Amino acid sequence: MSECPHCHSTEDQVKAGRNRSGSQRYLCKACNRRYTPEPKPQGYPEAMRRQAVQMYVDGLNFRRIARILGVCHRTVINWVNAYAARLDERPPVPAEALGVNELDELFTFVGEKKKGFTSSHK
Ligand SMILES: [Zn+2]
Repeated sequence: MSECPHCHSTEDQVKAGRNRSGSQRYLCKACNRRYTPEPKPQGYPEAMRRQAVQMYVDGLNFRRIARILGVCHRTVINWVNAYAARLDERPPVPAEALGVNELDELFTFVGEKKKGFTSSHK
């Protein structure tokens, strides 16, 4: 529900297109003036949210991401959780805790060694 910044009416607020930056504009039928509601405190751009999630995946901790982006670290936690919920999986694990690439290389190495071993003995 939006509130007219001119007469503070919350009734008869109708959508009236969008401004240049894409924000929803409203027309107040009480005083017949148009306005763009103030963005909500949590209304950070999607690009920033995605950047925060990406930094988390890259192994930065919440507080560091928060400092870089200039937001509360709780906000960053919410973003990561929201991102995970949207993907319907667990929150992404920081890369440094995984070591998946090393493991893959190890398996490839062992596999090739094994192949070479069996072929030389048959
Ligand atoms: Zn008004």
